Amino acid sequence: MRENKTMICPNNHGKMIRKEMRKKAVLRDIPVSVKVEEYLCEICGFEAGTPEQTTIIKRKLCDAYREKVGLLSGEQIRRLRSKLNLSQKALAESLGVGIASVKRWETGSIQNVSMDKSLRNILNAVKPGNDHSGNQLFSIPRVKKVILEFEKYLGKKLLIKNDKLLFTAKYLWYADMLSFRELGKSITGSSYAALPYGPQLNNYSDLIDEIIHANVSDAKALTNDELKIIQRIAIKFPNKYDVYRAAHNEMVWKQKAIGMPIPYTDSVLLSEI
Ligand SMILES: [Zn+2]
Repeated sequence: MRENKTMICPNNHGKMIRKEMRKKAVLRDIPVSVKVEEYLCEICGFEAGTPEQTTIIKRKLCDAYREKVGLLSGEQIRRLRSKLNLSQKALAESLGVGIASVKRWETGSIQNVSMDKSLRNILNAVKPGNDHSGNQLFSIPRVKKVILEFEKYLGKKLLIKNDKLLFTAKYLWYADMLSFRELGKSITGSSYAALPYGPQLNNYSDLIDEIIHANVSDAKALTNDELKIIQRIAIKFPNKYDVYRAAHNEMVWKQKAIGMPIPYTDSVLLSEI
């Protein structure tokens, strides 16, 4: 951006010159330095930036910090988001935060480590529309919402930290698979893999804390058709061992090697419901 304004030294030394220099700062105890353009008084050494330059400096310093501690930079977040064809609003909903947070992270604010993890989970996820997310954008608050819905119908707690989603994941899996089979898209956008104890959410051990702490009011409301599917599964498998056994009887799980993804297109092959 070409700026035509001039800056005058506040110590009465006249025009300052535009100069590239190194700016240092300590952000959250981490020293960072970046190359930036600012105005400098050659007589007294006073440095000042235009509002535009100051914004750029702040962004560069935050990005330097994020690079140093291994967080996604604003540019990376923006690029990955565009690659998924995801609006800021959709990403915010998926994370259970306000759109202002996404805007801030993309323009320089630093996300915390746990939010960075959530961002990576979503942004590195398979593109909606392919058969690992079931045409649905992955949403952690929605995962929680579905689990709570099952709890309501089953009358028991499913979201338990040390359960490792062993039983819960099977209820989720059936809900997503049936929804894909009958409505054309999954409910939560989760991707699943064949694990020794049955179908399981990908990265579930990383996700469980986030699911427990997710704010369900950030999730898109469940449609009537989705609620009906959840209810049907709860009626069919009233006991958690029922759903466990059923999942283990499914050929789509039995025939997969451990760790292999279970695509949503396999939903037509389900036999237990
Ligand atoms: Zn001066």
